[in-house]
Amino acid sequence: MSLDRDDGIEPGTFIMDTSEHKEFRERMRLVLASFTQELPERISEIEALWERLQIDWDNKALQELHRSVHNLVSNGRTFGYPELSSQARALERILKSLLREACLTDIAQADSIWQQILELKRLSAEKEPVVTSDMAVVADENAFLPDADGSNLIFVVEDDAEAAQELALQLRYYGYEVEVFNHLDKFRSAILHKPNAIILMDVEFPEDTLGGIHVMEAIQRELPCPARVIFISVHDDMAFRLGAVRAGGVAYFTKPINSTELIDQLDLITASQIQEPFRVLIVDDSPTVLAYHTAILEQAEMIVKALPEPMRLLEVLSDFNPDIILMDLYMPECNGTELARVIRQMDGFLSTPIVYLSTENDFNTQPEAKSLSGDDFLVKPIDPAHLIAAITARVSRARSLRSLMIHDGLTGLLNHTAIKEELAREVGRSTRLNTPLSFAMVDIDFFKKVNDTYGHAAGDRVLKSLARLLKQRLRDTDIVGRYGGEEFAVIMNDTDASSAAKVIDEIRNVFSRLIHLSHDEEFSVNFSCGLADLAHFPDVASLSEAADKALYQAKQRGRNKVVVNVGD
Ligand code: GH3
Ligand code: MG
Ligand code: MG
Repeated sequence: MSLDRDDGIEPGTFIMDTSEHKEFRERMRLVLASFTQELPERISEIEALWERLQIDWDNKALQELHRSVHNLVSNGRTFGYPELSSQARALERILKSLLREACLTDIAQADSIWQQILELKRLSAEKEPVVTSDMAVVADENAFLPDADGSNLIFVVEDDAEAAQELALQLRYYGYEVEVFNHLDKFRSAILHKPNAIILMDVEFPEDTLGGIHVMEAIQRELPCPARVIFISVHDDMAFRLGAVRAGGVAYFTKPINSTELIDQLDLITASQIQEPFRVLIVDDSPTVLAYHTAILEQAEMIVKALPEPMRLLEVLSDFNPDIILMDLYMPECNGTELARVIRQMDGFLSTPIVYLSTENDFNTQPEAKSLSGDDFLVKPIDPAHLIAAITARVSRARSLRSLMIHDGLTGLLNHTAIKEELAREVGRSTRLNTPLSFAMVDIDFFKKVNDTYGHAAGDRVLKSLARLLKQRLRDTDIVGRYGGEEFAVIMNDTDASSAAKVIDEIRNVFSRLIHLSHDEEFSVNFSCGLADLAHFPDVASLSEAADKALYQAKQRGRNKVVVNVGD
């Protein structure tokens, strides 16, 4: 295993050698080592699952198999096994199609799955992980960045070569792939080839104080889809900011750049790329108008629910859970504004945007316009492109507001209110489906001492590293939130308390081995966890109380442990 600088990474590859970087290298070394160590076990698990499936076909086991293989795809690439990862991807494709068909159709296919598993086994046994300095930097942080093909590419366009390199290093550290351009003309041809790259554009260039903005204006006209550009500048006045917005800037940073904020912004932009399709509910009593608008929006790849009877709104609303509601103003039985008031009084729909489709003279008087109370209207007949643009703008805005509302600023995890809402929803769902569910409360041990000894900033870094570790190690379907200061909560679907305890205990183990650094001083931290499941505590209140009690027990019994509450 070649991660230590002495035996693996070429001297001089690490230009940046700050204490954070050392900390990161150490963390990487541990994570990589445990991946390699666990690999044979993971493959045997896959093998066993497939054997079991052949004897007794069962969709749940198939899902589990798919999940294990999928983990190999992403983790293999992250942790230095690219070949293994592509092999796993091929297998994943077959499993996905099996999942759709829900049964095995032919012997040849079964045989080919066997072959692929054997190949995985071979690759995992004979290969040493391919670890390059670049990858070591990418790996950890990249594991929880959205996997939107090619969207991790950033073009840094900055005439000050040194500043550009420094920025690039920071970004690579956070898992982004970066190309640097010191001249506008080179950048111009590159972006036309890779229009998906996110651009970090300096505003001022030697030949033109607004050079960055001018070039972007021209490029935006040439590209079929607007390029995503963030402007950076020493100027903070309106003229520059306005110019940047007009050139399609999605954000504006003034120098010196706060790199944490910049990374957060980039994470937001890349995350929004793999957005779920917009869900649009249209309420209109005219079937023709409904069909027309539905066709337009579906063509724009939105999911549309057309509702011709306004009185059925309530049942549709919670089932469909729309991002936006398009509504005719005048309908028999009740009108649009009345309907809007009903919607606003329902839990969870207070901020869903409502847009009326009206004719020009529907709003001739002030009181009428006011009765819209924050909602707005589009005038019929509406041009298709305009309809799509109007909906896209409103849904994007509503979604980003919501995202700000439900996420914790420091860690990016769900905040207290949001995780509690999720818990209520998931408990409801698991109760209905009669599936297991576990709830874990995680609290860092002696965290106050960390702050007191190493400073608040070091404490914040510890919180972030635990948040990232939780996100990285848990399944996509698990829900992680920051419950309070140094307290986290995890909801694990389809998992009973004893399996959940195993997973969290593994994370506890890894976390306690991480080396944190503050001004060249090394330290490590551990956490305690209390856990309970729905089988023993069948409602939200008793479940979270039980987890809390178990956490208290874990602290009492000496900390750095996971305690499961199984009731009396
Ligand atoms: P125990 O093992 O019993 O949990 O001890 P503890 O010190 O972790 O618990 P205590 O509740 O006494 O202290 C929690 C500390 O967490 C106090 C608070 O200053 C710190 N804290 C809360 N939020 C943040 C934060 O956002 N950043 C940092 N750096 N510290 C925080
Ligand atoms: Mg604590
Ligand atoms: Mg606490």
